[in-house]
Amino acid sequence: MATSAVDSFLPEALQFRPGAPLVDIGANLTHESFQRDLGDVIARAKAANVATLIVTGTDIEHAEHAVELAKQTPGIYATAGIHPHDASGWNSDVARQLKALHQQPEVVAVGECGLDFNRNFSTPHEQERAFEAQLALAAESGLPLFLHERDAGQRMREMLHSWRDDISQAVIHCFTADRDTLHGYLDLDLHIGLTGWICDERRGHHLRSVVKDIPLERLMVETDCPYLLPRNLPAKLKGRRHEPALLPWIVREIAQWHDVTETELGEATTRTAQRFFRLDAEA
Ligand SMILES: [Zn+2]
Repeated sequence: MATSAVDSFLPEALQFRPGAPLVDIGANLTHESFQRDLGDVIARAKAANVATLIVTGTDIEHAEHAVELAKQTPGIYATAGIHPHDASGWNSDVARQLKALHQQPEVVAVGECGLDFNRNFSTPHEQERAFEAQLALAAESGLPLFLHERDAGQRMREMLHSWRDDISQAVIHCFTADRDTLHGYLDLDLHIGLTGWICDERRGHHLRSVVKDIPLERLMVETDCPYLLPRNLPAKLKGRRHEPALLPWIVREIAQWHDVTETELGEATTRTAQRFFRLDAEA
């Protein structure tokens, strides 16, 4: 079952196939750390039954690269947006290029976009301006939104509230906030993406008690690789780089806290992702 690429890279304790094919809704495969061995990374994902990868586009260059990848590889799709960190570069030219990307059949969501008041690499004002414009693009194209939010839950909810009737669906990717914020998002009929943050015994603890509040038809799973390598892996990994083949480990952890089997969680999150991103059902 496992390919030689998997054998030589993944420790044995991580070589298991989930009972259901999975969708990794947040893979930053255009990150430079994947340049060297992307083919192997994708082969390992397939061998681990991570059948579908949504490659995150965080600016024009990365989104174009993600579309290229999606054109070349079955089971790969792209998103196209401007990350809040890069919101200071927003202008009408960027808007025009994004809009063209959203018309590509490989692009299944507007994003990654949103608000990050934790690091403020762009000012809150710049972030709100770029986000507002991308909400308008999502409303125009009808595409779902792939959202990033850190320490900006209240403002995010306000902005989404005023756009809620105009946009289709939206997922808060890599959700890490508290129960009240979660329920605010669920009340807005949003979807939630969970990463290996929950595998972190230092800072992911609060998530464990909150996970059960997310209905399975609202929940999707993601690695956010190469970032957020799960901290509780049963064996050391060469290079310490996170990748889609490790998604089954995250699913195992989430299933435990949601009180369902891995297969149930895998089947439900895949069904949800297929519906949300309007993917072909064979994934
Ligand atoms: Zn993010």
